[in-house]
Amino acid sequence: MSDTIENLQGNWNYPTAVRFGVGKAAGIGEACRDLGMKNPLLVTDPGLAGLPMIADAVASCEKAGLTCGVFSDIKPNPIGQNVDDGADAYKAGNHDGVIAFGGGSGLDAAKAIALLVGQTRPLFDFEDAGDNWTRVIEEGVAPIVAVPTTSGTGSEVGRASVITDEANHVKKIIFHPKMMPSIVVADPALTVGLPAHITAATGMDALSHNLEAYCSPFFHPMAEGIAVEGIRLVKEYLPAAVKDGNDLVARSQMMISSTMGATAFQRGLGGMHALAHPLGALYDAHHGLLNAVLMPYVLIRNRSVIENRMSRLAAYIGLENASFDGVLNWVLELRQELKIPNDLGALNIDDAQADLVGRMATEDPSAGGNPIQLTADEYKDVFVKAVKGDLS
Ligand SMILES: [Zn+2]
Repeated sequence: MSDTIENLQGNWNYPTAVRFGVGKAAGIGEACRDLGMKNPLLVTDPGLAGLPMIADAVASCEKAGLTCGVFSDIKPNPIGQNVDDGADAYKAGNHDGVIAFGGGSGLDAAKAIALLVGQTRPLFDFEDAGDNWTRVIEEGVAPIVAVPTTSGTGSEVGRASVITDEANHVKKIIFHPKMMPSIVVADPALTVGLPAHITAATGMDALSHNLEAYCSPFFHPMAEGIAVEGIRLVKEYLPAAVKDGNDLVARSQMMISSTMGATAFQRGLGGMHALAHPLGALYDAHHGLLNAVLMPYVLIRNRSVIENRMSRLAAYIGLENASFDGVLNWVLELRQELKIPNDLGALNIDDAQADLVGRMATEDPSAGGNPIQLTADEYKDVFVKAVKGDLS
């Protein structure tokens, strides 16, 4: 079977209902109706709010006999106030479901709003720590249709949102199983307008999800299997998607790789994300770009315990040198091809707060999935090497 956009279509029920393929966005209204919504609130970011794709989504709802409001007062790294405001808009408009539409920020904010609308406690009481998630009044969680517009975050199939606690300058993960959208409408055509550097950074985020899930120490062979294919798709198609944003085959393959990454990371993330989350909160840098820069430094730190599985991965994705070094060199070459900087210094990050970054990394929930449990000092070392570009 050849790769054409006609072939790259599917309706799947794993890990949730996914309606995948070019043109599927026309069915957003129908998806809302299938979940019993009559008056959804479409939540997106201000950059997307004025684009034809949002007007089209609202029109698709109207065609399906629904009314639809739009809320877009969201920061690039959404903060608690954005979620509170969105929940107020939901209640004021008597909405009965959420269309989560966008890249990471739009999807994460929307899912958190869907959670918060039926709760009595404040948002950060549901931070992913201990059994906080059991505080959620499950019946209060609004149904969600998710529509991704980037290929990286995979938040459309995630059960969590990353929201910045603005009072404490820290990114918190809000988690509940019911935050998994009930229907995903994944239309690769929505990503054609992304500029090359965003395609590259978000694509590297997808790679980091697949790669960290693959390296996680937890027993979850299903996730491991998904991760290796997700990595292969990045290798085969990310350069093409960056080179020609209108290549809908490459766009389709990257969108599914992104969905696969977030499906796989139910197994856990690791050191890249444990560092990228605090750095995103402290420096407001792009999440995907941070992971892309951090990737080789974390792989090198974990080398002693991941050599065998890197050899298996290298063989599967067709690297000539089927070893850890083969994978590392591929990552370095890919970063270069995509014009990703080699060090964090290029993102205006210095090592002035290295102690704090190390400490915050150990406290990040992603740290639990790293194949080695690193101390704050060890995370600090990895961070300082990434600032300096020291790949030793
Ligand atoms: Zn990520």
